[in-house]
Amino acid sequence: MPSPKKVVIIGLDGANKTTARLVGIDTELHDFISTIPPYTPPSWTSILTGVNPAKHGIIGWQKVDLERNKVSLFTSLDVKYPRLSEILDIANLKSVLINLPMTYPFNGIRKRENTIIISDWAAPKQAIFPQKLEEKYREYLIDPPHEWAKYGKKEYPRRVKEYTETRMNLYYDLLERDDWNLYFIVFSETDWFSHIFPEILEGENTHIVTPTFKLIREFIETAKSMADFLFIVSDHGFEVKNKVFYVNEVLAENGFIRYNKTKARIVNIIKNNVPKEILNKVLTKAGKSASVVSYIAQKADAFMVEPANWGIYVRDKSQTPKVKNALKKYDEIFDVIEFKLLHKGPYLKRMPDLIVIPKKGVEFSHELKGKITEKTCKGDHEIHGVFSVYGEQVKEHIEFEKLPRVYDIVPTVLHIFGLPILGDIDGKVLGEIFEETSEFAKKKPKYVDLSYYGIKQEKINQKHFKKLIKII
Ligand SMILES: [Zn+2]
Repeated sequence: MPSPKKVVIIGLDGANKTTARLVGIDTELHDFISTIPPYTPPSWTSILTGVNPAKHGIIGWQKVDLERNKVSLFTSLDVKYPRLSEILDIANLKSVLINLPMTYPFNGIRKRENTIIISDWAAPKQAIFPQKLEEKYREYLIDPPHEWAKYGKKEYPRRVKEYTETRMNLYYDLLERDDWNLYFIVFSETDWFSHIFPEILEGENTHIVTPTFKLIREFIETAKSMADFLFIVSDHGFEVKNKVFYVNEVLAENGFIRYNKTKARIVNIIKNNVPKEILNKVLTKAGKSASVVSYIAQKADAFMVEPANWGIYVRDKSQTPKVKNALKKYDEIFDVIEFKLLHKGPYLKRMPDLIVIPKKGVEFSHELKGKITEKTCKGDHEIHGVFSVYGEQVKEHIEFEKLPRVYDIVPTVLHIFGLPILGDIDGKVLGEIFEETSEFAKKKPKYVDLSYYGIKQEKINQKHFKKLIKII
């Protein structure tokens, strides 16, 4: 029988050590290594599954189908590895998942009888599973303040605070029901503010964000008093970027994209007229990118679709080394790596062929601008997120042998619950966090060999879940 512990995971999207301190995290903060690329959709999915993007299948918001020149959006249905909450659900443990990317639509979560889910900010609509709770909490389920450009920089922080304050009622109510074993909530406010007010990353103008961050801190304090273990994690870090590097333009310069400058300008004009709401940005980005992409792709051997996932798709795979060498020549590029050398898994086919790693301070764009670089000043993602853990059985001062990674949360939480860990997971139990005299430090992690049960890491379906039920 699994022990009925209580674990809280607080996600602070895009928090680095500076923003985590601004929120008011006052205990030891450790680096937390993100996925490569350090990007919201693959990284939260790795935190929730314990495996790399080639195993869970998510690499960004946009799914590229090279054969059909089609770009669509990734959803919960594309997550191909069991989530932590699904494994707990099999063991009859209860989870609450709030604001986690790739959890909508709810039928993409295959096991959810013991799970409450609130959709994330990028979902096409705000919703709660099960439906009867949506009726109860409808008044708190307000939409995220996506239209920041419309509000202006003065009004935007007030809108975010209002959003956070209203939804807090719902977060507290679910927390205080106290019938959960896992309560996992993501606050995206840290990421939104870091994009729009990069100066907070350097400790300036922090008064803009403190009213919202105070609400989050108070919530964390309440959650702390209810949990045996409380983890604080971010999906990636943040840094100030001072240069834009136009990747598709560079590919064109090297002969991999042939385009007509006038037509490309027309595509860009359409794109720039799209309202800048974040939600619609995600959605229209797919649509507009699709037009840029299909325009480019018809005449391209290699191209970028979604700059933040650092990926290049190569049509004729024999050209991959040539594309790699061409990109490596540029000063703005730290390295170019074949995706299949970075991550192993059955979903490589959905992934880009190359990952381009920018140098510090460089941000990518996929637009065709007629130039290769441009100055900028914005906040954008980098690889060092934050990790912290509280609990009676947690050491006050933790020394990690190896820096914790996004893949380590699932095995560590399963170990706390005394549940077996799937054998092909990419993370490990963070044994260093436990007080030496605690039961968790003494007991050995339990791994299950999937092949023994005849499970291959392939499309996870109902049949696999039945087998998992037997294991657990
Ligand atoms: Zn993020």
